[in-house]
Amino acid sequence: MDAMTLDQKLELLIGLAGDDRDGAPGSTTTLPPRLRHANDSGALRPLNIRDLRVPGKGSVSLMRILMTNACSFNCHYCPMRRDRDMPRTLLKPPELVRIFLEAYHRGWCSGLFITTGIPGRPVKVMDDLIQVLELLREKHRFTGYVHVKMVPGGQPAQIERLTALASRISLNLEAPCGSSLAQIAPEKNLDTSLASLEQARRNVNRERAERRDGKIGDPLHPGGASGMTMQFVVGATPDSDQALLGRVTDLYSRGGIHHAHFSAFRPIRDTPMEHTAETPILRENRLYQADYLLRQYGFGADEVVYDETGNLPLGNDPKTTWALAHPERFPVEIKTASYEELLRVPGIGPGSARRIVNERGATVISGLADLRKMGVATTRASGFLTLNGRAFQSVRWTEQLGLWGPAEDAGTPQRTYSVSPGTFR
Ligand code: SF4
Repeated sequence: MDAMTLDQKLELLIGLAGDDRDGAPGSTTTLPPRLRHANDSGALRPLNIRDLRVPGKGSVSLMRILMTNACSFNCHYCPMRRDRDMPRTLLKPPELVRIFLEAYHRGWCSGLFITTGIPGRPVKVMDDLIQVLELLREKHRFTGYVHVKMVPGGQPAQIERLTALASRISLNLEAPCGSSLAQIAPEKNLDTSLASLEQARRNVNRERAERRDGKIGDPLHPGGASGMTMQFVVGATPDSDQALLGRVTDLYSRGGIHHAHFSAFRPIRDTPMEHTAETPILRENRLYQADYLLRQYGFGADEVVYDETGNLPLGNDPKTTWALAHPERFPVEIKTASYEELLRVPGIGPGSARRIVNERGATVISGLADLRKMGVATTRASGFLTLNGRAFQSVRWTEQLGLWGPAEDAGTPQRTYSVSPGTFR
């Protein structure tokens, strides 16, 4: 059975959504009309499977289910927007649960990610999401990882219930400020989204605090303890990286958030933004790198270096940009630098900084090859380090690395896509 391709597996699973009282189980002839074109919807079909690293749980093979690609909203950037002509599908909660458990029992996945369009009222969609989780947790006693993307505008009791049953809960904010969100999603309201996020955050923080006080986690009611995520579409609005990271830093400061997702805008065919230029993927990468500095490297928000437009320079990663802007902090001597000083060196992460500090007393470090064995990215680090007072390279070497940075996009033809990279984040 494992020799089946992923497409074959997904087709078989969609077939299982049919009512087997009307024919052979899995036969596509039994599919209800709302699922007959499930495979015609391309990347927006209901089922996807991919591997994901989950903190504390290692690698989890996630089945990603789009409960419906129908939506009453008309966001300008979205392939699922109301006015766009495309095959629409909808899985009812019992169908979704049945498909997932079938895949789970066959060993094709170990966790679930649920996302959805918003056909009709958000409270009805929230009810459907809650029904999925109640069936999984309380009827079928599924104790594994479940990430649910809630929709903004749910009632407080719904958000509380959904958070109680989910391992992770997330919300798409799309833009860091309300006025720019209104330009691309006229029917959305950032205050409504933030209110939903704050309500979920209170529940997540409460669960985490209770666990810190000794409560044993209940796998059937994990309380969102894996932490929340939220997503931004980068470049669909004029918001700068500084505005995005400012919003993210503010959200992190009140706890309960695991990380932010940044999705570079892509123009989708047959949408009002079809002719808007796509955002370079490198900008998305730079945002993730800066976000990492804030979450893992002890950088303050005011230490991130932006260009005159408020964006992260694309030529170097944000840590190298910071290091080049602070020559007074370098070079750093490998034999004596503290963990914190090493962590500020481009090309040295928490793991390699720890190894250097722990091993330098007992291990001979005689050159870049030894540093490479300790996990140091020496191409970037060498201009910022000394060994026994001797430099490896000048910082000029690192500055020149930026010259081979982002490709000039001038002359690149406008491409359009059928799905946004953020659909399943
Ligand atoms: S972004 Fe969400 S709410 Fe907006 S059209 Fe797409 S699915 Fe609907």
